[in-house]
Amino acid sequence: MKIGSPERPLRVAVVGSGPSGFYAAEALLKQKDLAVRIDMFDRLPTPYGLVRGGVAPDHQKIKSVTIVYEKVAQNPAFRFFGNVKLGRDIQVEDLTKNYDQIVYAVGNESDRHLGVPGEELAGNHSATAFVGWYNGHPDWREEKFDLAQESAAVIGIGNVAMDVTRILAEDPEELKGTDIAGYALDALRLSKVKTIWLLGRRGPAQAAYSPAEIHEIGALESADLVVDPKETVLGAESQKDYADPENKKNVDYVAEKAKAGEGSRAKKVRLRFCVSPTEVIGKDGKVVALKLERNKLILDEKGAVKAKGTGEFETIPAGLVFRSVGYRGIPIAGVPFDEKAGKIPNAEGRVQGKDAQYVVGWAKRGPSGLIGTNRADSAATVKAMLEDAAAGRFAPGEVSADDNAVPALLKERQIRFVTFSDWKALDKRELENGKAKGKIREKFTTVPEMLEAANKGPVSV
Ligand code: NAP
Repeated sequence: MKIGSPERPLRVAVVGSGPSGFYAAEALLKQKDLAVRIDMFDRLPTPYGLVRGGVAPDHQKIKSVTIVYEKVAQNPAFRFFGNVKLGRDIQVEDLTKNYDQIVYAVGNESDRHLGVPGEELAGNHSATAFVGWYNGHPDWREEKFDLAQESAAVIGIGNVAMDVTRILAEDPEELKGTDIAGYALDALRLSKVKTIWLLGRRGPAQAAYSPAEIHEIGALESADLVVDPKETVLGAESQKDYADPENKKNVDYVAEKAKAGEGSRAKKVRLRFCVSPTEVIGKDGKVVALKLERNKLILDEKGAVKAKGTGEFETIPAGLVFRSVGYRGIPIAGVPFDEKAGKIPNAEGRVQGKDAQYVVGWAKRGPSGLIGTNRADSAATVKAMLEDAAAGRFAPGEVSADDNAVPALLKERQIRFVTFSDWKALDKRELENGKAKGKIREKFTTVPEMLEAANKGPVSV
């Protein structure tokens, strides 16, 4: 029987239910002349990965992308198994016995470090932790941030750094109607943070933030975006980057802000360029300051602009530090992992050395790109999957075509898996709880709470 025919559909396991996983499922379900069955697994009872746990609460429009994912999930050829962790509840061997192809859509769950002294001090956090905390992610809900500090520093100037800065700088009343975790809103209402240092190691023409994101910081009612005019002057090495329209918008905007001066708002976002932290300075085990080295910009052998320390140092006060220098993957038992690159080694989405195993999203290409970037990227991996399937290139070994085999296995292991209709029940409860508080949604932030809400079955709102 041909695999992919109505008599014997192609059986695919997708591990991870963030954007890249859903776009892979979407691309597979869109194929004409292909019968497919997709089972998607997630370690959390809730789907949508970074759309739920990463996108900032004041960016609700971005979250509406879940409408597309929900449509995918409603396809009868699709099943969701939430609260099932690969390597804990189910193993790669279980998947290879039950699926013709496996797609890893596991994202990047960890983050990069700076490798400077003092990173172990209390008060030095990853942006990942802060983002997870304000978004009510179960992994981060117990994290503590000393918001009684007046000065905070955010290292890195990508869009995650913009999110962290905005959440620290904006009036919490702007967030009260969103899906921000209730405990985070309470803590932010008591925040004493007045100054946020935003630290870029290169210049304004190399900033990683998008023009829209820096504009949002500059437009805050509660804070002034303060830029030192001297740091917005471009050298000859930056002219090529400045020719890029997005970079030009970024440079021109901060130059305009620099001219505007300090402003009179109570909070200040102090955006700095060409500085690198060389030490997190502590007192009694707690962060009190950051030592920065001034950089000059040079062209490397490939013509890219790099930062080089000048040996000139300064110290800025900071009782809270957030490093926002990029996410990083973590290894999963039984899945190849490139330690240096922090991702799953692959060629065009085909996992190196593993037949019929594929990868999409940040686990495939590293932590870059917007949500939409994943659509084409996942479609490219699906193209490789379809080529392999057409050529009969599957992993050796018998695959069970019994749809009940995996749910039966999970039940035997006493794993309380969450189906998509369970999630919808949970979702409705969150929306209901939000409505009662004048919020879009009040999230459940622990796995037991989530399971309890899912167990109660459907509700009508
Ligand atoms: P990113 O865009 O790669 O930015 C990382 C920042 O960290 C860069 O400014 C980088 O500087 C800096 N950095 C790296 N290593 C450093 C070091 N050792 N010392 C000092 N600075 C260092 O990463 P991200 O902000 O985590 O975002 C990840 C992806 O998600 C991006 O594609 C982003 O656009 C996307 N995202 C989008 C949104 C949105 O659209 N609203 C929100 C969040 C995230 P260099 O440039 O010099 O390397």
